[in-house]
Amino acid sequence: MNEETTTEEKKWFKTLLSYAKGSGGKLWVSVIFSMSSLIAGLIPYYCVYRILDRYITGGIDKAYAVNWCLAALCAYLIKVICFGISTGISHYVAFNVLEGLRLKVADTFLKAPLGEVYSHSIGEIKGVIIDKIEDIEPPLAHVVPEGAGHILLPIVCFVALAIVDIRVALASLLALPLGLIFMMLTFKLSGRNMVKYQEANAAMSSMIVEYVEGIEVIKAFGKTGVSYEKFAGSIRDYRDFVMEWLKSTWVTMKLAFAFMPATLLGVVPAGILLVGKGCMTISQMALSVMLAMSMVISMAKIEVFSNGLRQMQYTVLEVKKFLDIENLPEPETERLPDEYTIELSDVHFTYDEEQGEVLHGIDLRLNEGSFTALVGPSGGGKSTVAKLIARFWDVTGGSIKIGGIDIKDMKIETLADIVSFVTQDNFLFSRSIKENIRLGKPDATDEEVMRAARAACCDEFICKLPDGYDTSAGEAGKRLSGGERQRIAIARMMLKDAPIVILDEATAFTDPENETKLQESIANLTKGKTLLVIAHRLSTIKNADRIVVLNDGRIEDMGTQDELMERSVLYNRMWQAHVGARDWAAGNIKEA
Ligand code: ADP
Ligand code: MG
Repeated sequence: MNEETTTEEKKWFKTLLSYAKGSGGKLWVSVIFSMSSLIAGLIPYYCVYRILDRYITGGIDKAYAVNWCLAALCAYLIKVICFGISTGISHYVAFNVLEGLRLKVADTFLKAPLGEVYSHSIGEIKGVIIDKIEDIEPPLAHVVPEGAGHILLPIVCFVALAIVDIRVALASLLALPLGLIFMMLTFKLSGRNMVKYQEANAAMSSMIVEYVEGIEVIKAFGKTGVSYEKFAGSIRDYRDFVMEWLKSTWVTMKLAFAFMPATLLGVVPAGILLVGKGCMTISQMALSVMLAMSMVISMAKIEVFSNGLRQMQYTVLEVKKFLDIENLPEPETERLPDEYTIELSDVHFTYDEEQGEVLHGIDLRLNEGSFTALVGPSGGGKSTVAKLIARFWDVTGGSIKIGGIDIKDMKIETLADIVSFVTQDNFLFSRSIKENIRLGKPDATDEEVMRAARAACCDEFICKLPDGYDTSAGEAGKRLSGGERQRIAIARMMLKDAPIVILDEATAFTDPENETKLQESIANLTKGKTLLVIAHRLSTIKNADRIVVLNDGRIEDMGTQDELMERSVLYNRMWQAHVGARDWAAGNIKEA
């Protein structure tokens, strides 16, 4: 296990590059340009040395100086151009990798069991897809090519120093061991807390999302509420943690920064000594100092970059956790149903072990073209049954078949095509209302969209919006009532015209006046389709071919309205409650 993780961790960089084709090769080109740029940057020092040397020995003439100045200028130009090309390529690679990675995460979510997706908070998911993945860009675009260059540069400088004088070269490394020791100490101290830092950060970001999403409730109940405290608490925790963390590494980090690049600490005294003894010329000493200072810059950069690299590694492994979510298995070759009877055989389902089983063996057959209603007390498992048919999750026992074919043997897209599922909370995307409805059938004409909207009783309120059908649902979304959103979702469903329709409390928020109209058009448009309706208002399903009473994860009874009224105690109780509520509401309206 341990060994596996280490090889996994070692391969992280390769994995990262695999998200954009051809990145590896391009990154190498970028590295080569970056190295060339840094080496070219050394040439002007050599030119200065030549001029200085001539000057000191007294033989300088104008042409000589001008030539070396021109050479220095050329080298500098090459440095700038190479650097430009290097960062250009590395940014191209980085943004492509980011894109590939984001698409990959999005794709994983689409194919994962919904339970897996829901087990992460929206804050966490946004944190990963937007912020975390963005964090990879600067190190990938800068650290890799520039870092590689800055590793090469000190080596080249050292070799050049050695050519000048091996003793000076060795003296340049005098302070290095001390610096290295402090740097390793810093790494050890901060590495221990890196994971905790990431966690504190994720906790804060998901608290912020929750806070904003729940702002209405928080406003209504005031700052004294638990939410505000939790929100403020997570921000305080984050601050305390980061301060603590900084404090713990502050001293060793500063010492490392002080000693590590202190090449001059050895070079200057050694140089003075050698010049004094006549073993070195002044110009050679000047060159040595310039080379030693180049080493300083690179070493300091390496320290900063290695932190960036580590940050990137943590991020990649964090993102990988999402990519490793197991997909719902899909068949290689699928079988397509030629009719749309739905058959649940001994279906068991458990959301999570702790909570225990939610459905305890459901046997149910929904004949093609029939209208079945699912009723029962809240928490009885109605929505779960509906979601299992749409394969938001896989059953934990038993099977679900459509037209005799297990839904696991169909591609997820195929199933999505044949099942229309409208739930209680319908998400509208922030594009126009028209486009939101058109999701049901991407190639629908405007006329078709409007016909569906009229059938779903949406036409009237949509026309009152400032831009009608072109109003953005994002802006309109806050203005639309729950019932209006539901009707848009129903219009979407009607346009899709799938052979199986599942409505889970889909008209729950609709006002009585519209509800009758909506029921009629649903009945018209779902004729001949396999229809499963989950409804609280029993008056809306009394015409069903069959009503199934689900209680506590078991089917308690099934039959027509009349049959159930005659024999089911639970159904009778539900009717009384329903009628009572209706009368109570009607009474209130009269009194008001
Ligand atoms: P109904 O639609 O009849 O009100 P549900 O199918 O929504 O009932 O819920 C059945 C049971 O499953 C309830 O105990 C509920 O708490 C639980 N449940 C529903 N959704 C989830 C979920 N995503 N994760 C865990 N438990 C869930
Ligand atoms: Mg429900």
